[in-house]
Formats: sequence, C-alpha cells, structure tokens
Amino acid sequence: MCENCNYTTILKTAGVDATANRVSVLETIGNNNYPLTAMDIYHVVERTLSINRVTVYRILDLLVAKNILERLSSGGRTAYFGMAPNENHLPHPHFYCTSCGRMDCLNSESVRINTEQLQKTFPGKIENIAIRVDGICTNCLKEKAH
Ligand SMILES: [Zn+2]
Ligand SMILES: [Zn+2]
Ligand SMILES: [Zn+2]
Repeated sequence: MCENCNYTTILKTAGVDATANRVSVLETIGNNNYPLTAMDIYHVVERTLSINRVTVYRILDLLVAKNILERLSSGGRTAYFGMAPNENHLPHPHFYCTSCGRMDCLNSESVRINTEQLQKTFPGKIENIAIRVDGICTNCLKEKAH
C-alpha cells in the first residue's frame, strides 16, 4: 500500500474530476505492489462499487492519457497498469513471467539507462523509456523443481 500518494489530489492536479469510480481504480493500482490487468482491476473495484468493464477500460485510458498511470506491455495482448512515475514513484523496469503471466516491479536501481548517451545518438525527443525483462518468476521456478 502506498501511503505517500493522495489519489484524490493526483486526479485533481491532473484536472480530472475525482469521481468514486476513478478514485477506486487509481487506489486499486496504487495500493498494489505489482501492475494489474484491466480485468484484475475490474474484479477489485466491482466488490465495492457497481461498475462495468467498459467504464473501467475508459477510466484506464483516461488516466494513462493524463500520465497518472502507465500502460505496460507484456508483449502479448494483455496490458498491465501501474502508477506512472511521479514524485513518490521512481521510473523502474518490470519483470514479466512468461510462464504465469504475472508482471512485477523491479527496483529502480536494477537496470540503468544512460539517457544522456542515448540522446546523443538519437536526434528525436525521448518521452518515455520502458524496460521489460522477461523470464520465469521464482514461484514458477519452484513449481518446476517439484
Ligand atoms: Zn504512491
Ligand atoms: Zn511465474
Ligand atoms: Zn512497476
């Protein structure tokens, strides 16, 4: 759970009305320590609010467009959602388990990119760098060992 982010304030600062649905979607993602799929988020939010899947998808699109959330690609069809980097959350790489499909947050120190060097060799404007490390998670490794 993140005790540093105030979800209502984050929405208002981005110029988005802090409706109960939006706060709940943002809270669900912010309070989780690994990224979630739209379906995961929907199943958590629908426990307390009457909401449909389309509304959840729309809120996710809006919050990604407002740079509050980041959409993480698994390389397949399923996207995962996590908090976009902000003052409380440093940009960090992600680990994707190709066996169980779970995405995890890696330490921001684990993979370093020299953006200055990158910018020297690439003349365009860099807006976002996403790093995904693919492999087998520790849970799946343990299961295989049995
Ligand atoms: Zn936070
Ligand atoms: Zn796994
Ligand atoms: Zn993350």
